[in-house]
Amino acid sequence: MDRVVVAEALKPPRASDKRVRLVIRGAVQGVGFRPFIYRLATELGLKGWVLNSAQGVFIEVEGEPEALQQFVRRIETDKPPRAFIQSLEQTVLDPVGYTAFEIRHSEESGEKSALILPDIATCPDCLRELFDPADRRYLYPFTNCTNCGPRYSIIEALPYDRPNTTMKAFIMCPLCREEYENPLDRRFHAQPNACPECGPHLELWDQKGVCLAKHHEALLQAGEAMREGRIVAVKGLGGFHLMVDARNDPAVRRLRERKRREEKPFALMYPSLQMVKAHCEVNEVEERVLRSPESPIVLLRRKEPEAVAPSVAPSNPYLGVMLPYTPLHHLLMCELGFPVVATSGNLSDEPICTDEHEALHRLADIADLFLVHNRPIARHVDDSVVRVLLGRELVLRRARGYAPLPVLVKEPLPPLLAVGAHLKNTVALSVGRQVFLSQHIGDLETPQALQAFRRVIADVRELWEHQPQAVACDMHPDYLSTQAAHGMDLPVIDVQHHVAHVLSCMAENELEPPVLGVSWDGTGYGTDGTIWGGEFLILREQGWERFAHLRPFRLPGGDRAIKEPRRSALGVLYELFGDDAFDLLAHVFTEGERRLLRQMLRQGVNAPITTSAGRLFDAVASLAGLRQVVRFEGQAAMELEFLTHDVHTDEVYPFSFSEGSFPRTLDWSPMVRAILEDARTGISASLVAARFHNTLVEMMVTVARAAGIERVALSGGCFQNAYLTERAVRRLGEEGFRPYWHQRVPPNDGGIALGQIVGAARG
Ligand code: ZN
Ligand code: ZN
Ligand code: FE
Repeated sequence: MDRVVVAEALKPPRASDKRVRLVIRGAVQGVGFRPFIYRLATELGLKGWVLNSAQGVFIEVEGEPEALQQFVRRIETDKPPRAFIQSLEQTVLDPVGYTAFEIRHSEESGEKSALILPDIATCPDCLRELFDPADRRYLYPFTNCTNCGPRYSIIEALPYDRPNTTMKAFIMCPLCREEYENPLDRRFHAQPNACPECGPHLELWDQKGVCLAKHHEALLQAGEAMREGRIVAVKGLGGFHLMVDARNDPAVRRLRERKRREEKPFALMYPSLQMVKAHCEVNEVEERVLRSPESPIVLLRRKEPEAVAPSVAPSNPYLGVMLPYTPLHHLLMCELGFPVVATSGNLSDEPICTDEHEALHRLADIADLFLVHNRPIARHVDDSVVRVLLGRELVLRRARGYAPLPVLVKEPLPPLLAVGAHLKNTVALSVGRQVFLSQHIGDLETPQALQAFRRVIADVRELWEHQPQAVACDMHPDYLSTQAAHGMDLPVIDVQHHVAHVLSCMAENELEPPVLGVSWDGTGYGTDGTIWGGEFLILREQGWERFAHLRPFRLPGGDRAIKEPRRSALGVLYELFGDDAFDLLAHVFTEGERRLLRQMLRQGVNAPITTSAGRLFDAVASLAGLRQVVRFEGQAAMELEFLTHDVHTDEVYPFSFSEGSFPRTLDWSPMVRAILEDARTGISASLVAARFHNTLVEMMVTVARAAGIERVALSGGCFQNAYLTERAVRRLGEEGFRPYWHQRVPPNDGGIALGQIVGAARG
C-alpha cells in the first residue's frame, strides 16, 4: 500500500466506538467516489479518511457501530452511478481516535506488488444484456465486462493481459475488438471479453464425451435432464459443480451414493433472492453477502423445512445457499426456476475437477451428463463459504471471490512461504506488508489433493515471482505439508499449530501482544508430542507460553476417534473411572470392541494423550446419546450446537481450575459427572448441550481472569460454532475483556498458513 503522508490527529477513542477498514476495488477511480465517501462519512458523523492508491480505495471510518453499518450499506446503494465495486473487503478493528474525516493524498512508494483480482460475480449491466433479446449477447453464457467476470481462474501469468489468460486462443471479432479498444466502452481492456461470434461456447456431452447438443440448446437439454432427476456435471468458473434438482429426494440420494458422501450437507444454488427469502431467514448482512461481488455460499437458518429434499442437509437447521454468479448459472437457474444442489465436482475429499476431459474420466461414475465449455480454467477455485456471526461476515472456506486478495499486516515481512496444515489446507506467501493466502486446497488425504497442493505452491510462487527466504510449516512430523516443506531446499521454520491459529487471528485484527489466545480445535501437534486442542496461550513480544489447557485424556484408536465420538467418551470416562468406564458405555460397544479398547487404554498403546476441545465436544455428544459414530468431520459438535437453538439458559456445570500446576489445568471432570447424571435422569439433550456450551465459555472467562490480559483472541475450528463464539464474546466483554475473532480468514485450519507466516517472521 502507498505511504500516507498526512500526520494523524488523534484523541482517545470512546469505548463503544469501532473502526472499520474497507478496501474497495473496481471502477471507483475518477468517478467521484472519494467526494461521495467524504459526504457520506460526514453525514453519518464518522471520522477517518479515504485514500486512493494503485491497490484500490482504502477507507477507515470510526464511530458508533450502527452508523458504521449504515455507512457500508449505503456505499453499495448510494454510490455514484458510474462507480462499480468489484470487491469490498471489510475488517472491524479497534478505534484509534480520529478527530475529523479527510481525503488523504498518497505518495506512490516503491513497494508495489501486482494485484490479482478474484473472480467477480456478473454485474447488473451484463445481466441486462444477457436477457435482452435485442442485444448481441442475448443468452450468451460467457458475457462479462471490466466490472465483472473471471479473473484469478483464467490468469496464467502477469501482467494481466489477454495473451496471459486462458482466453488467448479466442481471437476477438471486430465488434468485440472495438469495445476492447475504446476507452469509453464498458469493455475497455476487459481481458475475457467475448461474444457468441468469437468466444467460448457450451456443449452437452454424454458419459462417453459424445456431443449431444451445442450452444443454448445444450443448456436447455441440461435443464431438461435435471428436471427429470438426472445428475449433470456443469463446468463453471473455477471448476465443476455436480447439479441435481434439490427437491427430488431420490435424485439427491443417488448423488450422495455416487459421490460417496453420506450426510455432509450439500450447497444449493437458488434462482432468486426472493426464493431464498421464502425458504430461509435472511438478515441485512446476509443479504449483502449473498448479493456481493464475492457471491459466496452463505449458511442460512431454514424457515421452510420442506422446501428442499431431506437428503440435501439431513438433520441440519441450516442450508448453504448461493445465488448464480456467472451468466451460465443465471441462464440455467432462470430456465429451471427451482433450487439445485450445486456441490463441487469431485469424489469425496478430492480436489474439484477443472478440465472437461479429466471430468469425463473422474466424474464418469457420478454424472449422467456433462455441460461443458471450451474456456480453460487456469486453476481450481472452489465456492467460498461464509457464516454471519455477531453481525459480521465470518469466512469458513476462503476461495472464489476472496482469494487471492492479500491480508494486510502492520509491518513489512521478509519473503516467506507457508505450507499450512493438513486439513482444509491453504498456503501463503508474504510480499512486504501483504500476505497472499491461497484459495482452499482441501484435506491432504489423497494423491490428487497432494498434487493440487504442489501445483498451487508452484503456481503462486510463479505468479508473484516469489523467492522465499524460508518455508514455514506445522510441527506435526506426519503432515504431508510438513514433509513437503522439508523437501524444499529452504530453511524450515516450524510454527506450533495452536500458536499459528492465534497469530492468524491477531494478524487479521491487527492485535499487538500481549494477547491471550484461546486456541480450540480438534487436533494439533503439541511441543511435548501429545495432541493439543484445548489451549490457552499467552503471546508476548518475545515468544509465547502455554498458560493453561483442558485436562488431558487418552484417545483409544487415535485418529479413529475422529469418526467415533464414543471413543472420545470412553477416553474421558476412563480418565475418571478406570475400568468402570466400560460398564458405563456397555451399550455403545460390542464385547469384542471393549476387549480391544481395554488393552489399548491399559497399555497406553495407540491411545495418544490429548487436550482437544473438539474431542471433548464429541465425548459430550456421545454421553448425551446424540451420536456415537459420525459421517463427516465435526458432525457431532455441529449437532450439539444446533441443539442449543431449542433452549435459552445461562445454567452451567461445575468445573475446576487448578492454578498450582504448570501449565494450569481446567478440569472438566465435575462437568462430566453432572452430564452422566443428567443423561441418567433423562434431562433433554438440548439442555445438556446448552449447559455444556455455557460451561466452556465460563472456563474461558476463568482463565482470562487468571491471565489478566485484556485482549483475548478466539481461534481454531471450535469457533466456527456460532453459539460458542457469540456467547464467549458477550461474556468476555461483560467481564471487562476485549474479545477478538476471525472475519475474512477462517478460524479453522484454512487460516493456519497466515499464522505460520507471521510466526516465522517473528522467529
Ligand atoms: Zn459486467
Ligand atoms: Zn466477439
Ligand atoms: Fe487447528
